[in-house]
Amino acid sequence: MPGARYGLAQTSATAGRLDEFSLIEKYFARPVTRPDVSLGIGDDAALTIVPAGYELVTTVDVLVAGVHFHESADSHSVGHKALAVNLSDLAAMGATPAWATLGLVIPEVDGFWLERFCAGFFALAKRYEVDLVGGDTAQGPLTVTVQLSGWVPQGTALQRRGARPGDDVYVTGRLGDAGLALMHIDGAIVLSPHQATAVQQALDYPDPHVEMGDRLRSLASAAIDVSDGLAADLGHLVTQSEVGAKVLLAQLPLSQSYQAHFDAIGWEVALSAGDDYELCFTAAPGHHHEITALAGQLDVAVTRVGTITADRNIIFVDRDGHGYRPETAGYAHFRS
Ligand code: ADP
Ligand code: MG
Repeated sequence: MPGARYGLAQTSATAGRLDEFSLIEKYFARPVTRPDVSLGIGDDAALTIVPAGYELVTTVDVLVAGVHFHESADSHSVGHKALAVNLSDLAAMGATPAWATLGLVIPEVDGFWLERFCAGFFALAKRYEVDLVGGDTAQGPLTVTVQLSGWVPQGTALQRRGARPGDDVYVTGRLGDAGLALMHIDGAIVLSPHQATAVQQALDYPDPHVEMGDRLRSLASAAIDVSDGLAADLGHLVTQSEVGAKVLLAQLPLSQSYQAHFDAIGWEVALSAGDDYELCFTAAPGHHHEITALAGQLDVAVTRVGTITADRNIIFVDRDGHGYRPETAGYAHFRS
């Protein structure tokens, strides 16, 4: 798309530097690896083939510098995370990822930044056999938008709706570490170097549960990925399922770093900070053994944290059996 006509500077106007097309050629136009990509980068649009009997699943996430990542963050982690958050959305649908497009807005052509960004992005893409099939590049405030598509056997996608009273509520991994890392960066809490490294990894390199999502299609009744905090995201799941939930806080999976600072942060960071990219899902109690076996097989921690109720609200119960109300409602843009 042109920009100059609307008063925006174009990357191609930067004399002596890579213009938009050389930049795409140098960094993003890589050979197609998937047999279902008939046409990748280089034309006006990409052509991909969805297998017969499958539905196309599509998601997009926008990462704005200063909002979703630090302006000074290593672009390797930005590249990883921009794809990881989308993989996490597809995982929560039980879908198999396949094709990505990248909308890249950069203030200037910084070769080092782009190299690192591509290294992070393409390493994760390779791991999940995702091809980058197109995108758009423009000059402006640093913003990374990745759109990811994949597929799922028709009619079998996991959704936020579908949880039934009596189902168990599970979460993968650990909750709150990314939030803890942000508090550390902001100086709101002081972590030991070892703790800081551990939680920074959770913030910068979320590990999407793609295989788990795929295998949960036959076991889970509903699923969502935890991007805004368990309280908010389980809230979306129960609202769409027209049910409620009772969560036992003592069951929440908290890392050693988190537990070491529990007196200062309590349950709040685990419930409301967000950026965890774990899966929260529900399943009939009869599937408990299979879910435990699957967790072992995939080497992913899966913890049962509560139960779905017919009563349409979420109750958090602390160790003493008292109800607990989260102080913040999870991350939401535009909230003052
Ligand atoms: P158009 O102007 O028709 O939208 P562009 O000139 O912007 O096309 O892009 C040329 C080709 O490069 C297209 O195939 C587009 O999908 C691809 N492309 C542009 N930017 C990126 C990017 N950041 N990552 C991957 N592919 C890109
Ligand atoms: Mg363009």
